[in-house]
Amino acid sequence: MAWSSIQQIISPYTGNAFIDSLVWQDHYTYNYELPQKGYIDYTFNTASNVAQPGLAITALSDTQQADVRQALAVASSVTGITFKEQTGQTSDDFVFGNANIGTNLGMDYTNYNATENGGSITGLTLNDTIVLGTSDADNAKPDPGTEGFATILHEVGHALGLDHPWQGPRALPSSYITGTNTVMGAGGVTPIPSTYGNMDVATLRYLYGGDGLLGTYGLTVNAAGAPVSNPPSNYMATLAGLPPINGTVSPGPTTESDTPAWQTASLTPPATFGMTALDLFLSAQSASITQHTSAYSALAQA
Ligand SMILES: [Zn+2]
Repeated sequence: MAWSSIQQIISPYTGNAFIDSLVWQDHYTYNYELPQKGYIDYTFNTASNVAQPGLAITALSDTQQADVRQALAVASSVTGITFKEQTGQTSDDFVFGNANIGTNLGMDYTNYNATENGGSITGLTLNDTIVLGTSDADNAKPDPGTEGFATILHEVGHALGLDHPWQGPRALPSSYITGTNTVMGAGGVTPIPSTYGNMDVATLRYLYGGDGLLGTYGLTVNAAGAPVSNPPSNYMATLAGLPPINGTVSPGPTTESDTPAWQTASLTPPATFGMTALDLFLSAQSASITQHTSAYSALAQA
């Protein structure tokens, strides 16, 4: 297959402050599922065989399910990803339910499992269990415009590979973490987002290109499983259809100790992002990556 190491299919940083604050670098994305499907399926069946082990989840109400479908429609409109609802217990990427998760509004549990054979990645399974916290009253009727709906967008954002912009080596100052810029802030941001913010859109299009899984754009592979290549030398600077990226700091920080300078740079998020030509490439294969890593891990993010 196309890769000899799971470490080759991370989501690399871009050099753009806003996007990099949201890239969950060690969260493998559904672009790389093997065997390939070209879509993400989901279920409300809490007995799904991929539901997070050990987590007591209960079924969403019809109202909650309708709101999840609306949130997925928002995600689809940004990414181009097809989300297919399934009713069975197998082949589910996303499982939605309610759970007692303390004071958390929502939670996304990601599991991934890579298999290899003869030095090549031969399989990568991914699944996410996304729950709404039962302690939050908004979650009972999480219609667009409510914090509950923003919570669904936030957790789906995690499942698609978005991280919190205030955490990690490329964290943004809190002044940029508004409801207009991102749904990936903590609960309580204003205005309450009813769609993905402009930073989210840029990052989701960086990851998925706007044309879905197995599309031409984004961090993607072709139908044969080979990484899309042809990287421009400074790919984020040459994106067609995007406004000038103010605030790009090149090459950007690479360690935690770089963060202060990064955070004091003059940054202005573009108001809108265009749709086209995120013709990006997978992380260049590094000669230093010689050891295959067969990974099974679980990540959880509130
Ligand atoms: Zn979160």
